Amino acid sequence: MGRAGAFILTCGVWVAVLVTLACGPSTSRTPGVDGGDASVFAVRRSQLMAEIRASDREISEPVLAAVERVDRHRFVRPENVDEAYENRPLPIGEGQTISQPLIVAMMTEALGISPGDRVLEIGTGSGYQAAVLAEMGVRVYSVEIIPALAEWSEENLLNAGYEDIYQRTDDGYFGWEDEAPFDGIIVTAAPDHVPQPLIRQLKEGGRMIVPVGPPGFYQTLWMIEQTGDGVVAENLGLVRFVPLTGEMSAEDP
Ligand code: SAH
Repeated sequence: MGRAGAFILTCGVWVAVLVTLACGPSTSRTPGVDGGDASVFAVRRSQLMAEIRASDREISEPVLAAVERVDRHRFVRPENVDEAYENRPLPIGEGQTISQPLIVAMMTEALGISPGDRVLEIGTGSGYQAAVLAEMGVRVYSVEIIPALAEWSEENLLNAGYEDIYQRTDDGYFGWEDEAPFDGIIVTAAPDHVPQPLIRQLKEGGRMIVPVGPPGFYQTLWMIEQTGDGVVAENLGLVRFVPLTGEMSAEDP
């Protein structure tokens, strides 16, 4: 190759580098909140599902499929979109977090729900757990105590295409009396004792999944089943949740 050829080649390489720097490689757009780069999310989502399947928790196919269908990147803050498919909780503002996907899967599994059931969630947060429940084919009622989060989760759910989830801004310690009883109740913030109003809003044969324990430490996740002869409780292991706030310290009515 002569001097001229080498010069043209060198220039060509630099032109290619400059064009790439200016325009960015066409295959790696920055993911946006509303799904800027579906292929990047698809890869991360399948990695997350592999991680959930590899855990020692037994999770059935319908629950795995429900978790897989939910776009978790639509339930996180814009600054956390890149981490949306990591198997960990993420901050959602107001000192609260979106739950870890494996814990969402495990709690959904433990509810033992079937399509058409009516399920009450306490602590809507981002709306992510509510979306997973909706994907299970149940009718979802969700209560959130912080108005800003109630509003944001409603937006998230609508943007993600979930239009028939019933939401309410209130202290979920007292459940949703007007809509009770429920086939399942899932509490996604930790009280320091089992809220009795929630037990009373469970149908016979219905289950409540609730983390109970002091704030700031690990809590015990309980599955509480309403049988004909009272309640039975099963310990599902240690978890870490934000505390249930509100009137919970008051005497049960
Ligand atoms: N299920 C949520 C996780 C939210 S974190 C998700 O998938 O993103 C727990 C949520 O419970 C927070 O949003 C918090 O504000 C809410 N919370 C705490 N105490 C509550 C109460 N007494 N009633 C209703 N919501 C409560």
